[in-house]
Amino acid sequence: MASIRTAGRTLVAALGAALLLALGPAPAAAQDGAASEQELPETGPPGEQPVLRAISEAPSADSIRSYVEAMVGFHTRHTLSDTVSDTLGVGAARRWVHGKFEEISSRCGGCLDVRYQRFQIEPDGERIPDTTMVVNPVAIQRGTTHPNRYLVISGHLDSRVTDIMNDTSFAPGANDDASGVAGAIEAARVLSQYDFNASIVYMGVTGEEQGLYGSSRAAELFKERGWHVEAMLNNDMIGNIQGIDGVVDNTVVRVFSEGTRADETDRMATIRRYTGGENDSPSRNVARYINGIADDYVRNLDVMMIYRLDRFGRGGDHRGFNAVGYPAVRFTEAHEDYEHQHADVRTEDGVEYGDTVDEVEFGYAAKVTGLNAASLAAMAWAPKPPSGVEIDGAVDPSTTLSWDAIDPARAPNLAGYRVYWRKTTSPTWEKSVFVGDTTEWTLENVVIDNYLFGVAAVSERGFESPVVFPGPVGAFTPASWMEDDDGG
Ligand SMILES: [Zn+2]
Repeated sequence: MASIRTAGRTLVAALGAALLLALGPAPAAAQDGAASEQELPETGPPGEQPVLRAISEAPSADSIRSYVEAMVGFHTRHTLSDTVSDTLGVGAARRWVHGKFEEISSRCGGCLDVRYQRFQIEPDGERIPDTTMVVNPVAIQRGTTHPNRYLVISGHLDSRVTDIMNDTSFAPGANDDASGVAGAIEAARVLSQYDFNASIVYMGVTGEEQGLYGSSRAAELFKERGWHVEAMLNNDMIGNIQGIDGVVDNTVVRVFSEGTRADETDRMATIRRYTGGENDSPSRNVARYINGIADDYVRNLDVMMIYRLDRFGRGGDHRGFNAVGYPAVRFTEAHEDYEHQHADVRTEDGVEYGDTVDEVEFGYAAKVTGLNAASLAAMAWAPKPPSGVEIDGAVDPSTTLSWDAIDPARAPNLAGYRVYWRKTTSPTWEKSVFVGDTTEWTLENVVIDNYLFGVAAVSERGFESPVVFPGPVGAFTPASWMEDDDGG
């Protein structure tokens, strides 16, 4: 048996039990035709990944507290605030984040490419009165086998008080959003201890409160460069557990995702109306993926998937990524407290207002960071999400999915694919089968009308990509690239 195992899982799976028994030394059990547990054929890669549990538990509440306190110490991080001082304002704050990324990189032999992204924003007649440089500190951990695949984690560094144009008053922004930036820094500290197949980008963006400038320009820049961004995880307010609704809860985090893709064309909308997919944008399937990671690997944390781009009528940094066609979702605490957001720090009628450090629950922020880090690691170790996914089966008792082969040079760890399906009313994927290294699979007697389908790529170690819904509706590729996509 040992020699056959080393021949590779795929081969073993294809050979089947009978052949294994014929090739192996005749075990006692085989003589009466019964296979023992050790003799059963392997049917696919393993499902359990202990390293993801280790990664999810690695973020430290104390580290996150120290990062948040350092950022609050800059008095204000308003986008229009001082950029020259070493102790006050957004300039000092972004140099501090850059320095943290450099420090982490120095501990992994320079594994992070640390830089600034600088964007000149012209006066917009609203929240940018004069030409302003919006600057994002960024660290890039290059993938080993497929570096043009990118996974992004981000928080926004800028803060504000009640008056959005006030760039001098104390604006601690401890939860909104030093907590999210701290999560990105801590994810870099944890994940820089591993090598991944795909690249990971850690960002602290600015200009969020003035109009989502830093993130939107970054998304446009990534797209201009042809980067295949497979998921952007926006962390905005991940530290509050006492809600204005009276609920205290440190066990739930919300993940917001758009239902139909922002870059959907008229032609794509027509296809969607005929074949479905209003609940299967790539962003929505990234949210399902994160939900599954939480269930499997993160203790005492559940994902509340919110089927909505963002909080009602409000915006966040994932939106600019969605706009250019990249999958992107938003993590936010389950219970917000509006008295501690965007407010002047003050006490009024016995009520304390302001986004201060004492309101942040660092253990909860560490757990949410752990979910981010485990999700990034799982996607970065998995082969890229399948492209060219198509489906056929109308007026037929069976359903056939097909997809493009992945260039083996870019996915040397590919074991094969897993086909998923679920009832049309189910929020999450319900059934699946590992189908090996093929580019087509027929589900016999599974009627196309009654289910929704998708396919994920699986590594030899069992790391899976998010599930890709068929057609342009579900593709992990910007619509404007679909004509000439080479799969990254
Ligand atoms: Zn925010």
